[in-house]
Amino acid sequence: MASINSLEYLQEKYELGETLGTGAFSEVKVATERATGNKFAIKIVDRTKCKGKENMIETEVSILMQVRHENIVQLYEMYEIDSKIYLVMELVTGGELFDEIVGRGKYTEVDAAKIIHRILLAINYLHSLGIAHRDLKPENLLLSDKTNEAKIMISDFGLSKIFNDDEVMKTACGTPGYVAPEVLKRQGYGREIDLWSLGVITYILLCGYPPFYDQNNIELFKQIMSGKY
Ligand code: ADP
Ligand code: MG
Repeated sequence: MASINSLEYLQEKYELGETLGTGAFSEVKVATERATGNKFAIKIVDRTKCKGKENMIETEVSILMQVRHENIVQLYEMYEIDSKIYLVMELVTGGELFDEIVGRGKYTEVDAAKIIHRILLAINYLHSLGIAHRDLKPENLLLSDKTNEAKIMISDFGLSKIFNDDEVMKTACGTPGYVAPEVLKRQGYGREIDLWSLGVITYILLCGYPPFYDQNNIELFKQIMSGKY
């Protein structure tokens, strides 16, 4: 029998299909488990494309493995094959919240409140485990299916990190428009940064455009740090 951490084993177990999305260091594909016909999403992370960020992947994996929540994309298995990491996850089929916002223009207050409530429950759960997501944005919020009752699902813990209660996180991270001022000021910061990002997401849902925007990041950071939205 092929070793578990081999491409042969993985391909015996799953048939890899279409590409669902690509990120800076990764590709996400549909996979069908041959024995059951069940569908999953496999995120393939290329270690060579993230030099010096290897522990980021280990972090993502160990975090996701612990997490069980109906609004968080579930991780089932991990394989390390050559320079790649294969993460077998729950498949969600409703696409990114980002595209939904673009399609709708904006949300009603009632619909926005429902979505933000679910995300808050999931974030509260993560924070209770001592986990901060650190990269909340509409591209990392996926819809479970294409119906009107689709659940919102948090994905992509690539930048998140387990931290102790009293320990502040010092690494600058996140995506420009969603980043909290304390991150930009390079002071210590904690899990509160997720709530800042969620505030930005709430604003975008209600207005259809971001609270802080400038093509020039320096100007954008000035707006964020002075709270001028
Ligand atoms: P990255 O860390 O490279 O940003 P993500 O985990 O955010 O990677 O995945 C990239 C894209 O792939 C997502 O924005 C989404 O469109 C798609 N995707 C990710 N996970 C899933 C999933 N479980 N089911 C369906 N599509 C997914
Ligand atoms: Mg992402």
